[in-house]
Amino acid sequence: MTRPVFATHDVFNQSPPFEDVDLFAVDASLKEAVVAFGGGGAQTELSDFGRHWGSAAMAARGRAANENTPKLRTFDSRGNRRDEVEFHPAYHELMAHSAHAGVHNSTWDAQGKPAGGASEVLRAAKFYMASQVETGHLCPITMTRASVAALASQPDLLAKTMPVIATRAYDPSFAPWWEKRGMTLGMGMTEKQGGTDVRANMTRAERVSDGYRITGHKWFMSAPMCDAFLVLAQAGEGLTCFFMPRFAPDGSVNAIQFQRLKDKLGNRSNASSEVEFVGAWAERVGEEGKGIRTIIQMVQLTRQDCAIASVGLMRSGLAHALHHARHRSVFQKHLADQPLMRAVLADMALHVEASTALMMRLCRAFDHTPDDPLEAAYVRLLTPAIKYWTCKSAPPFLFEAMECLGGNGYVEESIVARHYRESPVNAIWEGSGNVMCLDVLRALSREAEAAMAVLQGLSEASHGLPGAAEAATFIGKAFRRPDSERVARLAVEKLALLAAAAALNKVMPKSAEPFAATRLADSHAGMYGAVDLAENDTRMLLERALP
Ligand SMILES: Cc1cc2nc3c(=O)[nH]c(=O)nc-3n(C[C@H](O)[C@H](O)[C@H](O)COP(=O)(O)OP(=O)(O)OC[C@H]3O[C@@H](n4cnc5c(N)ncnc54)[C@H](O)[C@@H]3O)c2cc1C
Repeated sequence: MTRPVFATHDVFNQSPPFEDVDLFAVDASLKEAVVAFGGGGAQTELSDFGRHWGSAAMAARGRAANENTPKLRTFDSRGNRRDEVEFHPAYHELMAHSAHAGVHNSTWDAQGKPAGGASEVLRAAKFYMASQVETGHLCPITMTRASVAALASQPDLLAKTMPVIATRAYDPSFAPWWEKRGMTLGMGMTEKQGGTDVRANMTRAERVSDGYRITGHKWFMSAPMCDAFLVLAQAGEGLTCFFMPRFAPDGSVNAIQFQRLKDKLGNRSNASSEVEFVGAWAERVGEEGKGIRTIIQMVQLTRQDCAIASVGLMRSGLAHALHHARHRSVFQKHLADQPLMRAVLADMALHVEASTALMMRLCRAFDHTPDDPLEAAYVRLLTPAIKYWTCKSAPPFLFEAMECLGGNGYVEESIVARHYRESPVNAIWEGSGNVMCLDVLRALSREAEAAMAVLQGLSEASHGLPGAAEAATFIGKAFRRPDSERVARLAVEKLALLAAAAALNKVMPKSAEPFAATRLADSHAGMYGAVDLAENDTRMLLERALP
């Protein structure tokens, strides 16, 4: 295609778009982590996915879905309530592509039991690649997948819904879930007076002959066009989890009234509503009074996805930064050849290598949880620690990636600007940073023996790496201190770093050495590139980061 030219100048020394790439093939860390953690047989499937999601067409969908944000249609032209949210067609296309690849359900079998094999690792690889292109639509995708873990507390309900959840069809029609080809689920916990402290929920549930009637509000309820929501409300025996569909069993629209959509920093393709339930029909999930125990099964999985998405966002930032630096010349030399820029990019590559290995190690543990108590203990102790570390590290990482692109990075047409605005939400929702640290402490106090066995395993897996033994000792002591809450961030960060070094040691021992040297033996400086990496390591990291 020939384009019109400027009368005054030629355009040159700009990097070409980083599009039409196979997101799997260009990602050595991902490929090796998938193999190391049990997903070796799925290279072709993942490469097909990576090529598809790395295409210019998918990038265009991501841009369109974020520029054309969802609109709440509260009423129709006659003043009747509608309570529908309209999305741009690109959003629906993204949803359809993710659903088609099973990103919303492939870790479950047709009955809603864990699918086994390496299904967690393989789905995580897809979720991570999709998050590099468009993250907002992954909110209902992750909630749908995670909801099955909570529905398992109510086997009759799971048996009814699973045939519709288990399809790979995306059906955006506004219709009762039981008439649809596929369904999505959301969750409503947060109220105005308390999000972390869900015990403060005031929404009430009243038992009626055919279920419950729910009255109250939720201050955040995302993806409001989901077909059903898992909602917490106070019933006779206390806080209880409910399945609240958009349509009541008689086929009428349920009394779920959306008040507003949030005007958000990022996550703009996704709608997040403020909502009131005006005697909305619902059925119970699990026992009355056991709402937190029921919904936490779901939240454990959405926390896992927050970590995966954060690593995906960072990977994308790194790839765009490196791609740009290889094409952009400054003072007659490519940026990628300038020693100081190489130091920055190599340090960022090291962070992504370790984060990728760590998230995949966690997913392997999820794969083995049903039959291996030690892996179950790994999941329990490390999911909050890994969510904390990966999600908190994403915004400053993406800021650095943006700066590597110079002014272009700050402009909305750059995907890195969108990633940057997106990134903080993963640390905030599904349990904010401090809450994750407190959850690690809870795991340590309630299941101390299992937690210590995990720590022992991390020590063995990181044996000989610089600073690893000292870090393990520090963590063990910090968690036993009577004032452990005060130093929880220090200890949880070290725990995540030790786990990352251990995971990297399995996937890519050559990278584990500089990672441990710069993060465990020494505390990492606030800025990327403020490290003294050997030239050999710098070269190796940059070559691996993007072929
Ligand atoms: C875009 C977006 C979409 C969302 N979608 C949903 C949704 O679909 N469904 C839903 O239910 N919720 C949703 N949320 C809400 C989200 O889960 C909550 O905002 C989050 O759990 C924090 O709750 P809060 O806002 O009430 O803050 P608070 O609970 O008031 O917490 C404020 C701060 O205090 C810290 N903190 C809390 N307790 C302690 C403690 N004991 N010690 C030290 N520090 C502490 C927290 O870490 C946090 O940093 C969404 C939020 C956002 C931003």
